[in-house]
Amino acid sequence: MKKLVVANLKMNLGLEAVQKYITTIKGQITNQLLVIICPSFPFLSLFKSAEYQLGSQNTFYKKDGNYTGEVSPSQLKSLGVKYIIVGHSERRLIFHETNKIINQKVAAVLKENLYPILCVGENKEQKLLHKTPVVIKEQLNEALKKIDQEMLNDVIIAYEPIWAIGTGLTPTPGEINSMGEFIKRVMSFEYNANNTRVLYGGSINQNNIKSIFSLENIDGVLIGGAAVNPDLFIETLNKIS
Ligand code: PEP
Repeated sequence: MKKLVVANLKMNLGLEAVQKYITTIKGQITNQLLVIICPSFPFLSLFKSAEYQLGSQNTFYKKDGNYTGEVSPSQLKSLGVKYIIVGHSERRLIFHETNKIINQKVAAVLKENLYPILCVGENKEQKLLHKTPVVIKEQLNEALKKIDQEMLNDVIIAYEPIWAIGTGLTPTPGEINSMGEFIKRVMSFEYNANNTRVLYGGSINQNNIKSIFSLENIDGVLIGGAAVNPDLFIETLNKIS
């Protein structure tokens, strides 16, 4: 199975910059990787291309109705979106998304036969108190409550320590690999999901992508800051091969 690269462009780039982004990366992405681009909602259709897959940074959990400002998994699917990031720490912290909401979103995404990319990760204090496995296990258990057994292998888990996002700091490769192994073990023993893909996200850059990407228990990376500039993004991807 191909390793994944998820580019989370967050709330960056306007129309002109998006057009430039698309022309810059065209033809530059190796088909040995499964690259998923997650732009802001208004630009999703512009990004449709055979070279990469389309992802969304967020969704609501209802299918349709009077929910001003929200976008549903079925609407995203109609635009060609296949992957949806759920539970990003910025959604949890800034928009107060609870584990219950995240659980509803995971269920709604799977119901449309799309792939949720479920983000989990500890904060700095929890890390210092050596609580990382407990925190991650609880986030998984809450987010996966009552999810149909046969759909669990479609859930992609992104291990994103909050203290590593946008800070230039990362856990050691050994720590990242252990967390990948831990998450796979939880998914296998508790949920009988034996094919879970685990990504790492948090301050991926040109210097660290190769060593993290090659870890045994890591199936890909989620990139924020280093994906926003298209030239830098391609340079970063080129470091993998
Ligand atoms: C993210 O926000 O998911 C992320 C990984 O960001 P960055 O790469 O900038 O740390």
